[in-house]
Amino acid sequence: MNMNLYNTMSRSVEAFEPQHPPKVSLYACGLTVYDFTHLGHLRKYTMDDVLIRALRYAGYEVEFVQNVTDVGHLASDADEGEDKLEKGAKKYGESVYDIAHKFEDYFFMSMDKMGNLRPDVSCRATEHIDEQLEMVKTLEEKGYTYVIKGDGVYFDTSKLDDYGKLARLDIEKLKEGARVEMIAGKRNPTDFALWKFEREGENRAMVWPSPWHERSFPGWHVECSAMSMKYLGNSIDIHTGGIDHIPVHHTNEIAQAEAATGEVPFVHYWVHHNFLRIEGEKMSKSLGNFYTIDDVIKRGYQPKALRLLFLGSHYRSELNFTWNTLAGTQKALDKLIGHLDAVWDAELVERTALSSEAKLFMTRFENAIADDLNTATAVAVLWEMVKFGLSAAEMKTVLQEMDKILGFDFSALVEEYRNKPRDIPDGVSALMTQREVARNNKDWQESDRLRDEIAQKGYSVEDTADGQVVKKV
Ligand code: AMP
Ligand code: ZN
Repeated sequence: MNMNLYNTMSRSVEAFEPQHPPKVSLYACGLTVYDFTHLGHLRKYTMDDVLIRALRYAGYEVEFVQNVTDVGHLASDADEGEDKLEKGAKKYGESVYDIAHKFEDYFFMSMDKMGNLRPDVSCRATEHIDEQLEMVKTLEEKGYTYVIKGDGVYFDTSKLDDYGKLARLDIEKLKEGARVEMIAGKRNPTDFALWKFEREGENRAMVWPSPWHERSFPGWHVECSAMSMKYLGNSIDIHTGGIDHIPVHHTNEIAQAEAATGEVPFVHYWVHHNFLRIEGEKMSKSLGNFYTIDDVIKRGYQPKALRLLFLGSHYRSELNFTWNTLAGTQKALDKLIGHLDAVWDAELVERTALSSEAKLFMTRFENAIADDLNTATAVAVLWEMVKFGLSAAEMKTVLQEMDKILGFDFSALVEEYRNKPRDIPDGVSALMTQREVARNNKDWQESDRLRDEIAQKGYSVEDTADGQVVKKV
């Protein structure tokens, strides 16, 4: 399978050729761990997961590095405002480090539920302060920086001829339109903070001594360049992130990395994911449409139904999430599991021994994936295949091959389905799942309410050391 990927740098789909095949270095911008992982994050990281699985399927040895942003991501992209971690700590009344660990754990729990593979290296910004400091010192020695007193160390973007090439920024226009409230002392509107200083009167929890200030901390962008270079070298094959990162975060990563090492390009393929909207709106706490994996489970849906929903659209298109669509996708998943159950006891067939029809389904599936990860077409081929009437053995073989890229873990889905008590209707099972979530959250009131609702359906539920046991009354 020869992968083709859309590269934001060239704005075109390119044949993927890593620098040192079969090795592929891949860096994914990780979460800022100041609040719960939401459905938008789940979409981005699920599509990253499919990319990594596809590359491995194609025979590449992918080294997957993903950071955890636990310091330095300020509320505003203009290098101002509160650190998001400090904001989270205030909101939840816990220390910044407790907040960071709590939401990092929640992130990985969510990833596990979605079936997303863990990175080979997960690196926290706070544990790489030295690497980030070294990078800023190098940039200072090379003359790319200046200090704004009482504020921070800044990167002088006018020193680069090609600053803004990823986003194709119109620097002259930006200069003309520069906002009056640009940080005092900034030489160019696009200059950005490499290192920030604690201000008078501030009492930040995350500060470190640096050559410029006793109490200071890294800017957000420097962590991704410093850590990707530490683990993957100066020039990496693939870097992923959301489209929101193109004009500032990734633009600045390129500037500081290429200036520090002199090696161009810092990244060979830039892969950017489009956004998830909820019922047509931007997701936000204030709109009350901020949902997590637990909300999905609470409403009685399987995380893999969400996975199927994500795979149904292209990662570069915006996706509008609605609960109605998820309900429909859950039904589709149930149907698929029915097909899996029917063939799962069959013996596998050697790929070379597959019939020409089965081989054609595989080829069409692989071609779709190779075409810039066209998962929607790939899933459509899967549906066509299960309805076509291949033998059980061939169908199981093809499904298992497809699953290597789609990442559903079909075997686990079949097992779960087979272990589900047969005489319990789906409505009652869904309530039990909700009750399990309530109990995990120590929400006893909700747990009792759900017990009553289950009783109304004619079932009793008992809590045992092995979990809930439900019986028909
Ligand atoms: P953050 O924690 O804000 O740095 O975000 C982590 C990653 O999730 C980034 O790559 C973002 O672009 C991405 N992201 C955030 N919100 C959404 C959303 N609603 N849909 C898709 N991706 C998102
Ligand atoms: Zn990043």
